[in-house]
Amino acid sequence: MPFWKWLWPRKDAPRKIRIHLVPDSGDEPLSVKMPLGLLRILVLLIVVGILAILVLIFSSSSLILEKQKNRVIVRQLEENAAQLSRMNTLERELEESAVLLYRMQTLFGEGTLPPDSLIPDQILRERALPGGPPQRENLLQRGEQQVLSAMPSSWPLRGWITQEFHGQHGHDYHAGMDIAAEPGTPVRAAGDGVVLVAGWNDEYGNFVLLDHGFSVTSLYGHNSHLGVRKEDRVERGDILGYVGSTGRSTAPHLHFEIRRNGIPEDPKSYLLD
Ligand SMILES: [Zn+2]
Repeated sequence: MPFWKWLWPRKDAPRKIRIHLVPDSGDEPLSVKMPLGLLRILVLLIVVGILAILVLIFSSSSLILEKQKNRVIVRQLEENAAQLSRMNTLERELEESAVLLYRMQTLFGEGTLPPDSLIPDQILRERALPGGPPQRENLLQRGEQQVLSAMPSSWPLRGWITQEFHGQHGHDYHAGMDIAAEPGTPVRAAGDGVVLVAGWNDEYGNFVLLDHGFSVTSLYGHNSHLGVRKEDRVERGDILGYVGSTGRSTAPHLHFEIRRNGIPEDPKSYLLD
């Protein structure tokens, strides 16, 4: 009877078996007697162990594969997201430049308007607004508004004019206008602008030079001290400094100067209020 058939419970199976281990060298064989039940259990344990190891190897390798697949998918998703955001940025930039181009064409007249299919979405959205699209007049008005709020057209302070502008070179040359006021009176920006200089000069003492754009600057001299710094953005009426008598000055006053393209002009031709 083959050995393996004993493993299966049978009526006539022996209760115990003897295992002989015969060395090849011809020495005494090693003989072990054990109950058949124990042998069955041992064989069962070995089979189950081998199966468990196989299952473990298989599942861990498939787990590793799965992990690698996931990593590839995640990387792909990240790349897709990055590409999408790049495309979105590009699309926005395109739309912005299209809107700008359209606005410019609107300003320059109907003849240069693009066909409807090329009109940017933003313009179409604006057209659907209750107020309608910004008209050519509105755009011009908006531009005008910008120039108006930038121009130095408000008095920097109220006081007595002690010396007028005198642009002709000569003994009474005066590049600006002098306005006398109590020391410490706030000196205010005559229009929207950016502080080009906030510093000291032997002539003007503590002074502020504002850039209003459109090649126009204004200067405020002889301050006791300043309230702004270089590169500050200021709006009309913002305090730049306080009336003093620093620099070449004999009494507290503001020296107020406006230049276009670097050439002094009469501040009175700018002041509106
Ligand atoms: Zn002066």
